[in-house]
Amino acid sequence: MKQFEHHDALSIEEAVALLSDYEGKAKIIAGGTDLLGALRDEVFLEYPEALINIKTIDGLDYIRSDEKGLAIGAMAGLADIVKSPVVKKEYQMLAEAAYSVATPQIRNMATIGGNLAQDVRCWFYRYPRRIGGPMVCLRKGGKFCSALAGDNRYHSIFGAAALSDISLDLGKVRKGCFAVGPSDIAVALIAMDASIVTTKRSLPAELFFKATALSSTVLDSDELVKEIEIPKLPMGAVQRYDKFTLRKPIDFAVVSVASMLTLNNGVCEDARIVLGAVAPEPVRARKAEQVMKGRIVDEDVALEAAEHALAGSSPLRMNEYKVEIAKVLVKHAIWG
Ligand SMILES: Cc1cc2nc3c(=O)[nH]c(=O)nc-3n(C[C@H](O)[C@H](O)[C@H](O)COP(=O)(O)OP(=O)(O)OC[C@H]3O[C@@H](n4cnc5c(N)ncnc54)[C@H](O)[C@@H]3O)c2cc1C
Repeated sequence: MKQFEHHDALSIEEAVALLSDYEGKAKIIAGGTDLLGALRDEVFLEYPEALINIKTIDGLDYIRSDEKGLAIGAMAGLADIVKSPVVKKEYQMLAEAAYSVATPQIRNMATIGGNLAQDVRCWFYRYPRRIGGPMVCLRKGGKFCSALAGDNRYHSIFGAAALSDISLDLGKVRKGCFAVGPSDIAVALIAMDASIVTTKRSLPAELFFKATALSSTVLDSDELVKEIEIPKLPMGAVQRYDKFTLRKPIDFAVVSVASMLTLNNGVCEDARIVLGAVAPEPVRARKAEQVMKGRIVDEDVALEAAEHALAGSSPLRMNEYKVEIAKVLVKHAIWG
């Protein structure tokens, strides 16, 4: 680990001012469960000059519910979200997604803001300096995503088709990073039509995760997540969060699916289905949602929706298996 300055911010305004002062060379630290590992392994293209601690800001860890819905402060802990009576009763999908993250120790430290802004877990990108890294990839000033030629079993299954014509001519510049979005919470929030409120704007969760070669969110370097807002969910909406992992505890999703179905006497009035860990951003399965609307939900509809959800996928050399897992999870989310 290299040396850096450390500032305890006492207000959001102070945190933003400090970020601006450092002109992109400072990072926010919340629970530190993602950031400290990345600093130790020296994975960033540029090591931050300073960390701005936001744990010292009072009152950012609330979970409040009213007739409009739920508001969660960016510093609310994942463990508190899991335990919250209102989340467990009315927003179970969020409680399930939060519970699926890591271990109790990590959930005790990790915050929802940090979970949404966490960095990707790609093993090329994260390869530690102390054991021979860094591996130069697109995120580190390289010309192409290392996953295209390397072991890509956990990488994106969407988006590869556009690149198929460049085969493995590594002299050409690649456009995309194939690391998948790691956040379980993100997938659930999009399924619940949540909004993310930052120090600059409020935007639907779906638009917050817009991956580029260098970042997984639209956050500017001087922008903070302040709050997450989830509208009151439709009465009787069937919510579900499912996650396929290789190990039971402490594992990121190989594929995850969040779903919210509104049914009336078995007929689907509305559906939101979101896939996680299949692309740099969570993927909304809009075609699958459309084919369900107005129909009685049964096993055939669930199978059809699952096919539609994965219709646009174009897996890499080693990750075709993820397509099948995703289909099973979508079917399971709809029909059990
Ligand atoms: C062993 C292990 C297993 C894990 N498994 C999972 C898993 O299965 N599913 C999953 O979803 N996650 C998993 N994680 C990731 C974990 O959820 C995140 O590390 C955690 O949620 C990050 O929260 P934090 O408060 O510790 O963030 P920090 O580590 O403090 O920050 C993470 C990033 O977010 C930025 N940031 C923090 N707060 C804000 C804010 N309010 N506004 C803007 N930027 C901010 C920081 O600058 C930093 O870049 C795992 C982590 C570990 C170490």
